[in-house]
Amino acid sequence: MVERNIEEAQKDKRAYPLELERLEGLLKSLEDKKEEKKRRIEELERERRTKEGELELEKERIKRSQLRLLEVKTNKEYQALLKEIEWAKELNSQGEEVVIKILEEIDQLNDDYKYVKERAEKERGGIEGDIEKAKEQMVQVEKDIAKWRETNEEIIKELDPRLLKRYNTIKEKRDGIAIVLVKNEVCQGCYVNIPPQIYNEVQKNLEIILCPNCNRILYWETSE
Ligand SMILES: [Zn+2]
Repeated sequence: MVERNIEEAQKDKRAYPLELERLEGLLKSLEDKKEEKKRRIEELERERRTKEGELELEKERIKRSQLRLLEVKTNKEYQALLKEIEWAKELNSQGEEVVIKILEEIDQLNDDYKYVKERAEKERGGIEGDIEKAKEQMVQVEKDIAKWRETNEEIIKELDPRLLKRYNTIKEKRDGIAIVLVKNEVCQGCYVNIPPQIYNEVQKNLEIILCPNCNRILYWETSE
């Protein structure tokens, strides 16, 4: 029982760092999601500024072309220039639509970012709570292990040398568990029922009794 407790606690102890890693991974992925939205917004802002700059230049060019209209000599030249201006205006209005689309996307992303940020903050609280809890449990498990080791050593101390040898042999053969608790007439090492008279002997606690099935050393706890 005690040894089984220790073994199980050791398993828990090994699981906690993994759990912590998992929880910290969750926190990181929340941050990453937020950062990704932010990066995309910045990217679009840059694109918008570039596009707006280009549109400004194009507008200047159209203005100059319109002034040149007043100076051209022939009708043919005039028509050609007019066509050029129309074409430039058409391109410009397409460019303006692109800017509007970018602005809409930025708006949407700003909303997303706000949402992700709020959720991240909410989840962060829960996850940080879980991390704290896992750390506390880890400390508790360490304490339990120390306490059980002590109990185990006390039991071993009470064994005479002949039994100690036996204890070590059993321990080797039985997955490292040589001393087990009997609970409700059941051996907690192999979970087989103990005959009533053997159960009585264990309860008397006068001599070392072995489980008839798995040969582990049986002990009984009054508090159980
Ligand atoms: Zn047994």
